[in-house]
Amino acid sequence: MGVFSYKDIYKEDGKRVLEINILPEKYCNFDCIFCPIGRSHNKIDTQLTFDGMDNELKELEKMLDDNKVDLVFINSKGEALVNSKVSDIIDLIKSKGVLVRLLSNGYLFGREEYMPIINKCDEVVGEIKVVTEVDFQKIQRPIEGYTLKEYISNMVKFNKQYKGKFILEVGIIKGYNDTDESIDKIKSIIKEISPDKIIVARMEDERFKKKLGISDERFDAISKSILNI
Ligand code: SF4
Repeated sequence: MGVFSYKDIYKEDGKRVLEINILPEKYCNFDCIFCPIGRSHNKIDTQLTFDGMDNELKELEKMLDDNKVDLVFINSKGEALVNSKVSDIIDLIKSKGVLVRLLSNGYLFGREEYMPIINKCDEVVGEIKVVTEVDFQKIQRPIEGYTLKEYISNMVKFNKQYKGKFILEVGIIKGYNDTDESIDKIKSIIKEISPDKIIVARMEDERFKKKLGISDERFDAISKSILNI
């Protein structure tokens, strides 16, 4: 089995988007209870070298040469930054005059070794899902030693020097961050991070919707409240 996988090219705001996963299996620094990919058997935040990357890069180049693509969205099975070739992948895409968007939970955004790589992306997506340290440990189950405080400060630090578009996805989870008090906390975190765009999301995956999903009514109210800040 190869390392990369692709989704069919789709259109978003008139742009032709190629979505790519650059990990052979799940590698993440978190092990969220609601992860759509499954459990993290490889909790990691340092880079790994995967076999066959030269061929994967050639195939990506061919995809870009053969198709009209405006933006490549790196949306991987976990934390894309742990692929040791991530920088080369971004360089290749940029050399074709194509924009790059990188999705990450955002914890590594503030790390010195990753910042120059992330800075090369035109857009990045970071996430916020909980507002207390206890909930962070309980439902996002990060690598030992990680804290919510550092998570937020990493994104703040990164965005202070980032020139591209920072998109922050706020995930609303029933029982964890859906009270008015939590929403106020989320708003103050958003102010600190100061993203260019905010996306409010909720549990849509059927496996977790019943336990962690919120009603349409509550979701509308929370979305309005957050997007009006
Ligand atoms: S951060 Fe994303 S990929 Fe990683 S465990 Fe959580 S939901 Fe899964």
